Amino acid sequence: MRIGVLGGGQLGRMLGLAGIPLGLEFRFLEPSEKPPAGAVGEVVRGAFEDEAVLAKFAAGLDVVTYEFENVPASSVRWLAKRLPVYPPPEALETGQDRLREKTAFRELGFAVHDFEAVEPGDDGRGAASRLGLPLVAKTRRMGYDGKGQMVLRSAADVAKLRATLGDVPLLVEKMVAFKRELSIIACRGRDGACVVYPLTENVHEGGILRVSRAPARDVSPALEAAARAHIEALMTRLNYVGVLAIELFDTGTELLANEMAPRVHNSGHWTIDGCEVSQFENHCRAVAGLPLGEPGVRGESAMVNFIGTMPRAGELLKMPGVHVHDYGKEARAGRKVGHATAVGATAVAELLRVERWSR
Ligand code: AMP
Repeated sequence: MRIGVLGGGQLGRMLGLAGIPLGLEFRFLEPSEKPPAGAVGEVVRGAFEDEAVLAKFAAGLDVVTYEFENVPASSVRWLAKRLPVYPPPEALETGQDRLREKTAFRELGFAVHDFEAVEPGDDGRGAASRLGLPLVAKTRRMGYDGKGQMVLRSAADVAKLRATLGDVPLLVEKMVAFKRELSIIACRGRDGACVVYPLTENVHEGGILRVSRAPARDVSPALEAAARAHIEALMTRLNYVGVLAIELFDTGTELLANEMAPRVHNSGHWTIDGCEVSQFENHCRAVAGLPLGEPGVRGESAMVNFIGTMPRAGELLKMPGVHVHDYGKEARAGRKVGHATAVGATAVAELLRVERWSR
C-alpha cells in the first residue's frame, strides 16, 4: 500500500520509519529542499496549492495523510475528492482554527479557559475588559510553537495588539496559571476502535516543547479517565482516523483543554522507544486500515528535544536505556533537529541530569 503524506519533516520521517516494516511505501509532498522524510520515501517537491503538483503527488497513491497541519484546507479537499484522506478534512480544518477547536472542546463538555474571538478591525479593548487581564492573544490560524501569540498584561500591551499580531482574526483567552502542561494522544482506526496513550507531562520554553515525561506523574485515575473520555469523544465526533493529540493545562484541580493537533505529536515521540506500538506505527496502521496495537508502555520514559544543534550521539549512547533520533537536518537556531528518549527510571534520571532538565 502506498501512503501519501502532506509534509516531509521529521514527523513524516518517523511515520516512514514505523510504516516500512509493515510493508507500506511512502511519498511525501514538501516544498523545501532535502526534507528529513526524503530518507524514507519519494519526495514530490512543490507547493501545496499547486494543482499540477497535487496531481503528480496523488497519482498511484492508495491513501493520503499529513504530518503538518497548516496545509491549505482547499488542497486537502481537492485530494479528498480523489482519494481517501485521513484524518478527515473536517478534523484538519477544526485544528487549523483556534476558535473552532475551542468551541468544539466546549460543546463536548471539556473544561476550557474563557476565550473570545476578536475580528479584524476590532482593537481588542472590549474583549480585554470583559475577560480581564492577564490574557494571551493568538492568531486564529497558522500559529505553532508559540508563534503568532502575545501576552497582554496591561492596557499598554492591549494598545499594541494590532501592531504586534496584525489585523487578522484573533482568539483572546485567559492566561492560565497552570501547575504544569500535559497532553493526551490517542489513535482511532477506520473501524472506530481506539487506543489511548497515557497522559504525558510537557515542559515548554519560548513556546517550544523541550521535555516530555510519561506516564505523567501524580495523576489521579479520575483525571486520566476524564482525559481519555474527552479525546475519544472528540475523535468520535470528528469521525477521526489516525493519531490525535490534545494539549492540556493542569491547574491542580482540573485539566483545561488548550489545543488539538490532528497528527502525530512531538509529545508522543517517547512512544517510539517507550511503547510496544508507537504513535507513528498506530497512525500508519489506522490510515492503512490495519488493526491498531495497544500502546504497551515499557515503563517510565523521558524525551528531550534538541533545538538548533544535535549533541554528539556517542555521548548520549553511553547511557544505557537512552535512544537517539537525529532528523538529518542542518543546524539552525530554534529548529527541532532531533531528540533522545530514555526508558527506565535510571536512564530517565541520567538523561535529564546530563541535559540539565532535572527539576
Ligand atoms: P499554543 O500554541 O496554544 O500551544 O501555546 C504555546 C505555549 O504557550 C503553551 O504550551 C503554553 O506554554 C503557553 N500558553 C498558551 N496559551 C496559554 C494560556 N492561555 N495561558 C498560559 N499559557 C499559555
